[in-house]
Amino acid sequence: MSRAAKVIRPELQAMHAYPVADATGLVKLDLMESPYGLPPELAAEIGRIVAGLSLNRYPVPTAQRLRALIREVMQVPAGCDVLLGNGSDECIQYVTATIAREGAVVMAPVPSFAMFSMHAFFFRVRFCGVPLRDDFSLDSRAFLDAMAREQPSLVWIAYPNNPTGNAFAQADIERIVRAAPGLVVIDEAYQPFAGATFMPRLAQFENMVVMRTVSKIGMAGLRLGYVCGRPEWIEAFNKARSPFNINVVTEAVAIKLLENKSVLDAQAARVLAERERMRPELERLPGLTVYPSVANFFLVRVAGPQGAGTRVFESLKSQGVLVKDFSAGHPQLQECLRLTVGTPEENRILLNAMREALQ
Ligand SMILES: *Cc1c(COP(=O)(O)O)cnc(C)c1O
Repeated sequence: MSRAAKVIRPELQAMHAYPVADATGLVKLDLMESPYGLPPELAAEIGRIVAGLSLNRYPVPTAQRLRALIREVMQVPAGCDVLLGNGSDECIQYVTATIAREGAVVMAPVPSFAMFSMHAFFFRVRFCGVPLRDDFSLDSRAFLDAMAREQPSLVWIAYPNNPTGNAFAQADIERIVRAAPGLVVIDEAYQPFAGATFMPRLAQFENMVVMRTVSKIGMAGLRLGYVCGRPEWIEAFNKARSPFNINVVTEAVAIKLLENKSVLDAQAARVLAERERMRPELERLPGLTVYPSVANFFLVRVAGPQGAGTRVFESLKSQGVLVKDFSAGHPQLQECLRLTVGTPEENRILLNAMREALQ
């Protein structure tokens, strides 16, 4: 046995690293990125800003300016603080680290975002997934029962949910927040496409925080996520944070882009309009079930025997379109593919390729 094999956690040895497909040369509709770049003047301005940064210096660890701007632009309620992460993925890590006591339980509906259970695994906290109904709605009775039984320290609710695209009923989420014995994080990664938000209600619930990201509105490459909530929570997360986790480039560029948020909002509005235009087109395709979506993607299910979903995924890929294949994942996602909404041209290419693939 090699020394590596001897010391590396056996469960980790059995795992695969999070798979990200190579998208070179493909229409990239796999990761819910914005399909739009920046207007050239704004891009040039960012170039000048980056050129002026002191890359030899560590960042200011509190990222004061960026946090103040997020508060203002994202309408974080007064009395709430903000934690920044290198993507909300990193926020998930910090939140999990905070509650990772011996015997703690993390709970979330499944299928949902994979990072909720992954970080629980890294911190040796038991993860309890509560299955959604077959139509991917939240089974609030089952969830409340599971909470009563497991007494989770931490509950994750993605609102809207990924990879299903729907938003659970607000009243159900409220019931969960009220009944939860610990913290509930509302992950609003897709809020710009859904409209609805729990942000204004932070004052109302002492055990709820709201997590967001700028990844889906045109800044996936910057890696910036944030959690908003009462200082009691944010101060604790902050202790688990790497002191210089937000690099100077991310901070400076995010400030510039958030000062120009109307540009990003206009791009998100175009994506939203495209989603509504695409829906009937997808629904018209034979052999495809299209699930309701309030996010910037569609979950679809391919009719047919086991393997039908992957066959369509491969056909799309051979036609130059990369989507995400969930066929081999969660049992409720068999033959399911997730399609990110792109530009009108990209969506046209996807629809044509899908028609061909379903032949
Ligand atoms: C994409 C996504 C995120 C993570 O985004 P980051 O790029 O790490 O900020 C978080 N939660 C959900 C539900 C997502 O789909």
